[in-house]
Amino acid sequence: MNGERVCSVCASGGSLDFQLNDEQQHLKKSVRQFAEREIAPNVMKWDEACEFPLATLKELGKLGLMGTIFPPEYCGAGMGYVEYVTAIDELSRVDGSIGIIVAAHTSLCTNHIFLVGTEAQKKNYVSRLATGEFIGAWGLTEPSSGSDAGSARMTAARKKDGWVLNGTKTFITNGHYADVLVVIAVTDRAAHTHGLSAFIVEKDTKGFRPGKKENKLGLRASDTSELIFEDCFLPKENLLGKEGDGFSDAMQVLDGGRISIAALSLGIAQGAYDAALKYSKQRKQFGHAISDFQAIQWKLADMATEIDAARLLTMRAASMKDAGMKTTLESSMAKLFASEVAVKCADEGVQIHGGYGFIKDYPAEKFYRDVKLCTIGEGTSEIQRLVIARQLLKD
Ligand SMILES: Cc1cc2nc3c(=O)[nH]c(=O)nc-3n(C[C@H](O)[C@H](O)[C@H](O)COP(=O)(O)OP(=O)(O)OC[C@H]3O[C@@H](n4cnc5c(N)ncnc54)[C@H](O)[C@@H]3O)c2cc1C
Repeated sequence: MNGERVCSVCASGGSLDFQLNDEQQHLKKSVRQFAEREIAPNVMKWDEACEFPLATLKELGKLGLMGTIFPPEYCGAGMGYVEYVTAIDELSRVDGSIGIIVAAHTSLCTNHIFLVGTEAQKKNYVSRLATGEFIGAWGLTEPSSGSDAGSARMTAARKKDGWVLNGTKTFITNGHYADVLVVIAVTDRAAHTHGLSAFIVEKDTKGFRPGKKENKLGLRASDTSELIFEDCFLPKENLLGKEGDGFSDAMQVLDGGRISIAALSLGIAQGAYDAALKYSKQRKQFGHAISDFQAIQWKLADMATEIDAARLLTMRAASMKDAGMKTTLESSMAKLFASEVAVKCADEGVQIHGGYGFIKDYPAEKFYRDVKLCTIGEGTSEIQRLVIARQLLKD
């Protein structure tokens, strides 16, 4: 069955094309050069100070990388998910924090507005988010509803000219730095998941404030925050999509978002592998480079093979998205596999560095800390298996 799915997207004249085209290769090279020049020298400084890299995000905006997947009419770069994955992969190879910031901004916040927003909302918000003028955040998770997102408690009560929001979101990427936020709230408790609706919130709205800034294991230059709503009035124009469609729209948004977490995973895995390969050729023990030892060679061989397999799954999901196909199954497969491969690669990366893998002078320890989010964010591995199984069993 899976083979058929690959063929339905990529087959042309009986062959499968596994290569990026010239323009995609050029994009990959440009993003790598930018990341190595502008991001790499700052990675540990940002990590240790938990410094949000706002100026670098503005530079990414100028390069079109804060709006890769949106059409030029909304100031986007007019590219697709294959290019988006390529960019997130290359950014995360150097710094996963940048990867997750761009991912939450693009495929969660901006894409939700792009997918179901009115023309006025798209002109007003997507156009400014896609250039990086605005930073975006997307709030679904609450203190008591994570995997079970449909059990959200935050309320939006209907008033004459709008809505009044009350409640708290938690673990929201970019929460403190976002100019625009999309949040999901209960508009009709009796209707369960059909009673959730999405809203657009501007940062200075009365009654809204970012709350606790989380102190994290990894991805420390990214911001993860509470969002607090206390009698926060929103005009009726700020309803995003149809009333009651917030949950189903959020699930559609996550189909794209999970591809970006697969890309974040790929980048971190590739960074860990590249660092381990380099170190294994330099480090000598018993009179040999450690890369001469079969035990190290097998680790490198497994890492390279599994990263390749993860990249193929991720690119399949991205290509299908670009072809306008439904990708619930393929996005979850890519996210599950890539994130678990990445955790394994980051672990082996530290092992290949020996004691130096535990020391902050080498990049291995940061990949090891950053990578764990990949099996948790946008649905844990357990939830991805649940989504995959449901898709398999419904046919
Ligand atoms: C750094 C970071 C950034 C984040 N960014 C965002 C963001 O921008 N926006 C946003 O909305 N959220 C965000 N999140 C939240 C994230 O999506 C949730 O943490 C995640 O979905 C898991 O929810 P939870 O933490 O409540 O864990 P829980 O749902 O409480 O899960 C705890 C454990 O139980 C397991 N479990 C739960 N239900 C089942 C089940 N039915 N079957 C089997 N196992 C199950 C889980 O897999 C997990 O192992 C972020 C989280 C982090 C850490």
